[in-house]
Amino acid sequence: DTSLEALTFDNVWSRFPDDFFTRVKPTRWGGTRLLDISPRGAARLGLEPDDIDHGRLTALMGGERLLDGMDPLAQKYTGHQFGTYNPALGDGRGLLLGEAMTPQGPVDLHLKGAGQTPYSRFGDGRAVLRSSIREYLAGEAMAGLKIPTTLALAVAVNGEKVMRERVEPGATLLRLAESHVRFGHFEWLYQQQRVEDLERLARHVIDRHRPDLAQESAPLEALFQDVVTRTAELIARWQAYGFVHAVMNTDNMSILGLTLDYGPYAFMDRFESNLTPNHTDTAGRYAFDQQPGVALWNLTVLGQSLTPLIDVERLREMLDSYEPTLQAAYAILMRGRLGLETEQQSDGELIDDWLSLLESSRADFHRSFRALSDRDVVGGLSLAEEIASPELESWLERYRRRLNHESRGDTERLAAMRRVNPLYILRTHLAQQVIEAAEQGDARPLQTFRELLSSPFLQRPGMEIWSEAPSSDAPPVCLSC
Ligand code: AMP
Ligand code: MG
Ligand code: MG
Repeated sequence: DTSLEALTFDNVWSRFPDDFFTRVKPTRWGGTRLLDISPRGAARLGLEPDDIDHGRLTALMGGERLLDGMDPLAQKYTGHQFGTYNPALGDGRGLLLGEAMTPQGPVDLHLKGAGQTPYSRFGDGRAVLRSSIREYLAGEAMAGLKIPTTLALAVAVNGEKVMRERVEPGATLLRLAESHVRFGHFEWLYQQQRVEDLERLARHVIDRHRPDLAQESAPLEALFQDVVTRTAELIARWQAYGFVHAVMNTDNMSILGLTLDYGPYAFMDRFESNLTPNHTDTAGRYAFDQQPGVALWNLTVLGQSLTPLIDVERLREMLDSYEPTLQAAYAILMRGRLGLETEQQSDGELIDDWLSLLESSRADFHRSFRALSDRDVVGGLSLAEEIASPELESWLERYRRRLNHESRGDTERLAAMRRVNPLYILRTHLAQQVIEAAEQGDARPLQTFRELLSSPFLQRPGMEIWSEAPSSDAPPVCLSC
């Protein structure tokens, strides 16, 4: 049985101490209508999309009817927002509905836009269609690029009118994640000096999500090392694929190294090393090129929170492994994107100069990589059209000389490059078109774009508009949470 009703739940979180959460029922939103179901999301639950009863899923996402075994609650956590500790955080507009037990392990079902909770502070507990679609597509795009992420099962619009900068339709997102444990969960317990609960939470993460670490001689240390390593690898992927999260507060950092909480994020169009899509981040704290350093800062905050459990010197040593891990992971990804199988001393410079070339010529980041990979494809992208720079030829000359050290043939190399250099990217202007159509009642563009993003390396005929860069006179990307 692969229906939604067949899911079974083991809600560990609702067995935690009372103040770890507050039980809250989802608010009922009238007029809820499903816009899309993600096949990849369904697969994460071990379900077939065709077997999901739309009426049942609509009732769940509209807050009308839960699935048997769910026990909805808002999680308490805290965190550092833009460098300042905020003790008042928690799930303010989303609820953990239940923890499903699937063949691939436990999966949280989290309903975002489910109404107010005790942690809503000044917020209305609602999510708007625009940001719900942006989060829905982001999970799909990241998964398509093999970047660890939460992923939604479905997105639904409802009949609510929600006041933001303008009145917008309300919506809900059914988000899946192996776990929603954040750095901020540990900060909350540390700030109150609750050492037993801190250890309990760490052991929960190990037992439920990282059982291999339980075999280590010092499992808690092994867990911190695991978080450092996975976070470094995550950030390497963000940097290699031009993704800016834009709100890297510690409450948005996943203990499992997933990309979590999509707000005013952006994928680059042209390469801009200091891109800051969040218009409230005037200092550029979370700019693209700041992300590696910010993640280390966040890991240091997590390490501080674990000082009651782990020796400070050991924490420092493990933090020291972050930068080399990130550098090594980034170098592997970028060499792959340039089609280099071997490693040469000069590769770092070749990569940096390629990025400088893209930046100075205002070329499109993703199309340029794809054009480099499309050189034997009839109707593929053309480098000369993508990069208008007198320096292109001299860089290509160095690149060709570098390729002489490779044993792989051109055809094989270019095919491999097309498997790591995507054609379809979640560009802000394309997301905007999808959102506007959905607001007018047409969800087909959303479904088309979701499908392209789910396998972004595969060129599809007749889909050229979905790989286009914004026009050069388009205003800079500027988004609000
Ligand atoms: P974010 O920056 O989206 O990660 O949100 C930071 C905190 O604000 C989290 O605790 C959210 O649950 C809460 N929050 C954000 N938007 C709302 C809203 N519209 N209503 C209630 N809480 C919200
Ligand atoms: Mg959990
Ligand atoms: Mg958040």
